[in-house]
Amino acid sequence: MDKIMMKTPLVEMDGDEMTRILWQMIKEELILPYVELKTEYYDLGLPYRDATDDQVTVDAAMAIKKYGVGVKCATITPNAQRVEEYHLKKMWKSPNGTLRALLDGTVLRTPIIARNIKPLVPAWTKPITIARHAYGDIYKNTELKAPAGSRAYLVVEDAQGRETAREMIHDFQGEGIVQGVHNTAASIASFARSCFTFALDAKQDLWFSTKDTISKTYDHTFKDIFQEIYDAEYREAFEKAGISYFYTLIDDAVARVMRSEGGFVWACKNYDGDVMSDMVATAFGSLSMMSSVLISPDGCYEYEAAHGTVTRHYYKHLKGEETSTNAIATIFAWTGALAKRGELDGIPELTAFAKRLEKATLDTVESGTMTGDLVGQSQGVPVHRVNTQDFIRAIASRL
Ligand code: NAP
Ligand code: MG
Repeated sequence: MDKIMMKTPLVEMDGDEMTRILWQMIKEELILPYVELKTEYYDLGLPYRDATDDQVTVDAAMAIKKYGVGVKCATITPNAQRVEEYHLKKMWKSPNGTLRALLDGTVLRTPIIARNIKPLVPAWTKPITIARHAYGDIYKNTELKAPAGSRAYLVVEDAQGRETAREMIHDFQGEGIVQGVHNTAASIASFARSCFTFALDAKQDLWFSTKDTISKTYDHTFKDIFQEIYDAEYREAFEKAGISYFYTLIDDAVARVMRSEGGFVWACKNYDGDVMSDMVATAFGSLSMMSSVLISPDGCYEYEAAHGTVTRHYYKHLKGEETSTNAIATIFAWTGALAKRGELDGIPELTAFAKRLEKATLDTVESGTMTGDLVGQSQGVPVHRVNTQDFIRAIASRL
């Protein structure tokens, strides 16, 4: 076949350890034979981040803003041990945090479902995507211990420093604790738009849940902003697409999610999303069967795997031992990005190729050929456990 041509470059962000190895294999075996790949390459591997004082991460974010679509390999977030291991100049920040801050995005995580890999909740036959608001609430809190006999107040000042509101939080008879949290209308609105846009793209219903009956101003503001934006900007498109927006209390949502068959997007406040995404990921199998995309309110997309650099497998690989690392999440990062590029640039064959690569990947697992992490959860077909490279080769021959 003729190779598929691209128009606009994809922002390619390389990464670290085992996933850096997967990255190369995926490109060579699954993409380059079929696509005249056009990327703008940024090496977000830790050595180059260190060499550029992390400027490369900022440059990559600016490139995503320019071109609209990026694909990112998992990267090390350095800790003290990594500073020593890589002789780093300093403990650089998480690249994902930097990208998220610059793109002002919402992270959406969707399980990748193969028929023979059984979810722990049997009713869940379709994926549940969690959209987590990644700003504010308890993640940017101010908290104090309150001694016995103290009084805590909530005070608001205007721009000139004049007090405009004061409410007593509590009059402490015994000792206690007190916490201040905030969010901004702009951040909530951008979160809402990312969720509505994603649901439209996926042609799935959007659920949103807070505790607005108890938190009548704070959580209720989330509810109101979502509703206003839905009515003004999305209702028509939702109705045309045959999907709906559904608001309910968080505890009601949890009960309904458990009874559902999946197949919707669940928008969650920061803490709810933190907790619920781990629960949903675990119930669907593992982080290696989870795709993840960061969507910015101005319509930029950054695709990645939900897992890390799989350090334990990498150290085995360095010792010359065989590994069985699952490439699926990283493959789906590439297919998500290529399909989106095809859609934005009007190249249907590129989008179709991405869908075919996804199908070849799932068909491989469903035929029984899989990496070690999936073996325990597989049901129905005889299992053929393969190593890292042979799994990618099996997909390639199917493709
Ligand atoms: P991890 O890389 O996700 O791996 C944790 C364990 O999960 C692995 O040891 C492995 O279990 C299993 N696993 C994860 N992905 C797998 C795959 N594709 N195939 C098979 N098994 C898989 O998390 P970590 O070890 O805590 O973190 C390693 C590094 O990744 C850290 O430096 C961290 O900063 C970074 N990290 C990056 C991102 C990101 O860039 N998005 C996210 C999280 C962590 P077994 O060992 O039992 O086989
Ligand atoms: Mg968590």
